[in-house]
Amino acid sequence: MNSVHQVSILNVPFIHSTKAEFVEIVHERMKQQKKTFIVTANPEIVMMANENEGFMKYLNRADYIIPDGIGIVKAANWLNKPLPERVAGFDTMKDLLELANTHHYRVYFLGAKQEVLNELIRITSSQYPHMEIVGSHNGFFNWEDPSIQEEIQELKPDLIFVALGAPMQEKWISQHIDLFDKGIFMGVGGSFDGIAGAVKRAPVVWQKLNIEWLYRLIQQPTRWKRMLAIPRFVFKVLKQKAKLGH
Ligand code: UDP
Repeated sequence: MNSVHQVSILNVPFIHSTKAEFVEIVHERMKQQKKTFIVTANPEIVMMANENEGFMKYLNRADYIIPDGIGIVKAANWLNKPLPERVAGFDTMKDLLELANTHHYRVYFLGAKQEVLNELIRITSSQYPHMEIVGSHNGFFNWEDPSIQEEIQELKPDLIFVALGAPMQEKWISQHIDLFDKGIFMGVGGSFDGIAGAVKRAPVVWQKLNIEWLYRLIQQPTRWKRMLAIPRFVFKVLKQKAKLGH
């Protein structure tokens, strides 16, 4: 982790910054060609890390972990170490695409189903015409086959978005990042589906009411099992708060 102010929530260190400040930090690192690993974490991810040592090890390799969920911001308040705001992975990715458009950066997309990826490329190449999409691969590949990493080594993209879902995307980035000279590597979960329109983002009203998670649950009911992590997260944070005597 880098020398920025951090707030630890159940042993996961989150960057203390607004989205705009964070995008600025990432841009600086891009200019300096500093390899960077970004994790976007919500309560489910924090619980996954607390309940799975292997996954926590992958998170420990990240340069920045951003609070992608209102639950993280709430937990930070309960623990008396507030974070400035929610930094949604989806919105951060869009800001980085904007940056790539302005500065003609080179982008690689890894993940999601082929038809989602095709749609993502179609939409982003028209919305961000000056950004250079140098390569892409769908998220259903054999990890033993080195061709994806060889391609990224050769293309040297500035930004590599990895949408394999957690924990796979963090595992893939941790296991491969040493092979590359440069690049901002960011795990973005279902964001390719979001941009391609395969999964709809909650309307702004729902986002403002902090119930985007409920919208996702209604859209993808199969997520309910994963979401059982949320009450466990709340319980664990409140237990820690009681221990700290706030
Ligand atoms: N995915 C993939 N390869 C796999 C499994 C999933 O590329 O082996 C993709 C899936 O198509 C989707 C994304 O990973 O685009 C995961 O989205 P999800 O919403 O489950 O991720 P989360 O945001 O919950 O981490």
